[in-house]
Amino acid sequence: MKLTKIVQTLEEIAPPELADDFDKGRIGLILGLKDDVSRIAVALDANSYVLEKAAEIGADMLITHHTLIFHPVNIISKSLASSLKIALDHGISLYSMHTNYDRADGGINDVLAANLGLKNIKTSEIGRIGDIETCSSAELAAYVSDCLQTPVMYAGEKQEISKVMVVGGSGFRNEFLKIARESGVDAFISSELKHDVLRMNGDLCLIDATHYATENPGMKALCPRLHSLLGIAVEFIDQPSGLRAFDFRADKNKAELNIKEGKEDCKQKEEEKDSLDLMLEEQARNQIRSDYRRSLGNENRRRYLE
Ligand SMILES: [Zn+2]
Repeated sequence: MKLTKIVQTLEEIAPPELADDFDKGRIGLILGLKDDVSRIAVALDANSYVLEKAAEIGADMLITHHTLIFHPVNIISKSLASSLKIALDHGISLYSMHTNYDRADGGINDVLAANLGLKNIKTSEIGRIGDIETCSSAELAAYVSDCLQTPVMYAGEKQEISKVMVVGGSGFRNEFLKIARESGVDAFISSELKHDVLRMNGDLCLIDATHYATENPGMKALCPRLHSLLGIAVEFIDQPSGLRAFDFRADKNKAELNIKEGKEDCKQKEEEKDSLDLMLEEQARNQIRSDYRRSLGNENRRRYLE
């Protein structure tokens, strides 16, 4: 498959003119090496981990959401040198689709909205707005965590949420919150909630579902789409963020009890082993549930979760 044909297809999927101004000159074909491509790799980020995996599977092209070089460089870091070396040594061309793919039909925000089972989905200037069954902030946080299989943090207690806005990636900016309010939503689901934004918020339920979990599924969804359009092998490279959430207060009573009892080391180790077994069992159960959920359509997915 000609590289030029692939680029043309990618531009049809995510027209470059949809991109934010800051992305101009930073999206599209970043590094064009071979004219013919036989295998494409897709990932969220272009870094040495992903490039090594792309080289392992024999990819000639890597398509990512986040580009390899965002800010102009005068000094080449070891990590940049290492990524470039892998790409050059293995003839892997690089292509980036960023804010243009956020906005595009079937892109990051559409996949996020679909994964959350939103109804009556409308496009806003920054994301997607849709309806959900009325629930509280805590219920919505739990639901988002389950749908996206991610730890979440939330702020803004509400009892009746029925309209939400979703923006993949770091959407918690004051100007975006303003759009959310003007759109009349009860909750805003995005990531990277900063303190200065949080303390100015008094009315919305804000759910931080992590940058990775709000964007990664959109890149994964690109693979079957590209394969059906181009007919060549397209493989997704997942690099989980590894983020975990822990709230000591949620388990405070148990923790206090443990401190009072002054548990011996060996007993603690037994418990750690038990909790590891439990965690692995839970992960296996979650995998089965998420596989089953994925096999259902959006309508059925919502029903299954209930
Ligand atoms: Zn992003």
